[in-house]
Amino acid sequence: MKILEDKILKEGKVFPGNVLKVDSFLNHQIDVELIDRLGEVFYEKYKNKNITKVLTLEASGIAIACATARLLEVPVVFAKKTQSLNIGNDVYVTRVSSFTHGRDYDVTVSRNYLTKEDIVLLVDDFLAIGNAMKGLIEICDQAGAGIAGIGICIEKGFQKGGADLRQMGYDVTSLAIVDGMEDDGTINFREQED
Ligand code: 5GP
Repeated sequence: MKILEDKILKEGKVFPGNVLKVDSFLNHQIDVELIDRLGEVFYEKYKNKNITKVLTLEASGIAIACATARLLEVPVVFAKKTQSLNIGNDVYVTRVSSFTHGRDYDVTVSRNYLTKEDIVLLVDDFLAIGNAMKGLIEICDQAGAGIAGIGICIEKGFQKGGADLRQMGYDVTSLAIVDGMEDDGTINFREQED
């Protein structure tokens, strides 16, 4: 998606360890108008899939989840990241290894907000090695919920998450796919139809 690629080129910063920082519009300050336009793309793609919930992870997926869910007229559920050991059994829980933070955390969703009646659109800000998404898939599996698709703002195509999820049969829509990042700040995108 050209407007997102242009924004990444203008404001994104490449950090060591293959981390792309987009704090000025997605991960700290939020460009609501841009995020709304990204949400419209997910809406157009998945509007006929009978989606009942948009599921994401706190915190950075929440904005794009809301932009999408508002158009689909369904609620957003965000999985909570916790290190607590006393989780109880009123939640679905799975363990996720964080790419950016280099540590593991538990991800929980209340059983009240996800059931086998749900058809879910999963969304997130970034897709890297795919652990966060696989955690959300595991939560949906525990709930017996169906997964209609996966919407990602920025996929790092040189990491394996996108290939893994497509291989697993999921319909992954990534609005920008970064195929390479150089230390000098150069960012290369995969060509996609807009
Ligand atoms: P994965 O589990 O696919 O390796 O990583 C996805 C999660 O890690 C996303 O929820 C995102 O918050 C974070 N993440 C992964 N790579 C990046 C990156 O390059 N930049 C930023 N800002 N977040 C990232």
